[in-house]
Amino acid sequence: MSEPQPSVLIYATPAEYTKGGPWRKEDLLITTRSMSLPNRCIKCNKPANGFSVKKRYLYTPEWTNALVVATFIFWPLLPFVMVIFYVLGKSARLEIGLCTDHRRVRIHGYFFYLPLVLVSLAGILIALIGPASERISSPLALVVCGVAFVVMVAAFIGFVYSTSLLQPQRIDKSHGRFRGACDAYLDELPEFPS
Ligand SMILES: [Zn+2]
Repeated sequence: MSEPQPSVLIYATPAEYTKGGPWRKEDLLITTRSMSLPNRCIKCNKPANGFSVKKRYLYTPEWTNALVVATFIFWPLLPFVMVIFYVLGKSARLEIGLCTDHRRVRIHGYFFYLPLVLVSLAGILIALIGPASERISSPLALVVCGVAFVVMVAAFIGFVYSTSLLQPQRIDKSHGRFRGACDAYLDELPEFPS
């Protein structure tokens, strides 16, 4: 005779909570198309103390990246590509919490790395085509350009790293899927009901 099976209590998750999101699915943050996220830092899960950044994310299917490259090569494609982006593109508007430390990192990106990118780029252009370009001996101009190029690339990586919050993996007609939220932040979210 088999043992009586213990009864299982099923606790329903409050409908408003799972219905409204946000949710997690593995390492992805899942949101609706317009959402104010919990007021915790997306990078480290510390309290954001009321601070949030408003961001609009645009997503188009990956194959459209090839169109962007094609447009760089052949400019007359631009209107055609813009129409495709308009038709296929989906956007999501999010309010994202940030703690004091990560807010500082972001400000550093905009006020240190970005100007450094622009100054390096200006240095390269001035050395190559500016009024002094003819007076600079060419080996020296090459060294200046090489150093400026390395600084520009490093500063650009620093800028992207310090200012990017979430990276959209897909945005469809109802939800957005994003990479970039820390594990502790995702751990406090319900699983996406799929
Ligand atoms: Zn933080």
